Amino acid sequence: MFTKGTFILSNKWDKRFLEMAKLVASWSKDPSTQVGAVAVRNRTVIAQGYNGFPRGCDDHELYYLNKAIKYKRIVHAEMNAIYNAAENGVSLKGSTIYVIGLPICHDCAKGLIQAGISRVVTPEQEIPENWQESISSSISMFKEAGVVWDWIKY
Ligand SMILES: [Zn+2]
Repeated sequence: MFTKGTFILSNKWDKRFLEMAKLVASWSKDPSTQVGAVAVRNRTVIAQGYNGFPRGCDDHELYYLNKAIKYKRIVHAEMNAIYNAAENGVSLKGSTIYVIGLPICHDCAKGLIQAGISRVVTPEQEIPENWQESISSSISMFKEAGVVWDWIKY
């Protein structure tokens, strides 16, 4: 059966940063899915990202509607947070990342582990059927790598 990560009672700061991630998600031009990610250290935002095409690439709405084009171009919110941090010379080591819109896919989990993220916070949510296998992998990898994944009531 599908087992999620740790459930904790939400605290004020976790809720605040999920709210912020939700705002960032709203900047996505993807009409079907908006995901936002905010990386935080010492209650300070150090990077953010939302799902979208690479910086400078044509992000015409038609490209989002064509799945063949979209899936080749789209950068997930979590990876964009990592790339934005790298572009700005900011280390994410030891930080917490708040993600709203979808749980963490296996590709982003690998990226977050490699970037040194130590905690992931997402809202308690239903996992869409087509994401379950990917997210099960994320949960396993986070456990093995010692990354805490908290699912909070939001
Ligand atoms: Zn992802």
